[in-house]
Amino acid sequence: MFEQVKLKYDFAALEPHIDEMTMQIHYGKHHAAYTNNLNNALEKLPGLAGKSIEEILLNLNSIEDAALQTAVRNNGGGFYNHNLFFDILSPQGGQPPQGRLAEQIQADFNSFEELVQKLTATAASVFGSGWAWLSKDPSGKLVVTSSPNQDNPLITHGGKLTPILGIDVWEHAYYLKYKNVRPDYLKALFNVIDWNNVAERYAKA
Ligand code: MN
Repeated sequence: MFEQVKLKYDFAALEPHIDEMTMQIHYGKHHAAYTNNLNNALEKLPGLAGKSIEEILLNLNSIEDAALQTAVRNNGGGFYNHNLFFDILSPQGGQPPQGRLAEQIQADFNSFEELVQKLTATAASVFGSGWAWLSKDPSGKLVVTSSPNQDNPLITHGGKLTPILGIDVWEHAYYLKYKNVRPDYLKALFNVIDWNNVAERYAKA
């Protein structure tokens, strides 16, 4: 049984950047549904019992039943992506990282500001529902990608990229407050990204 990540902050704590009702519905309805649907699909796949969500997403092709494979891809992706997303948000966020991640950002993007620009542009250009990602490759290099739907770099890059930051650009992530203006949501979101958490993920990846 997979469980949603426990939030380290209240639904209202990310105001005014992310509003309370969006958090209630996003975490309490959308993420809860992905998690329940994943667990329901896995009940029909006893061979996957005990596997981590990463192992499952890296080996979707091992699921022979096409409908079940799609269910695990969509809902397993939704479960994993939101566990990452909600965990890297914090009311104390917004400060650039220090240490090893800061050095790597400098090496790969010249500056923190240029990384934020690249992530913003990538997230803004996702057509329809999807995600923008910052990942670490096996050499330690940082890579920015995007994915449709609830895919993520584990699915799109077959284990060559480990996601350390995900930006949700499904309309459910912002429409109640920002309506159709995705760029305003993206600008606000960077005020609540906890780069210390991202740096810990970089160190462990
Ligand atoms: Mn979402």
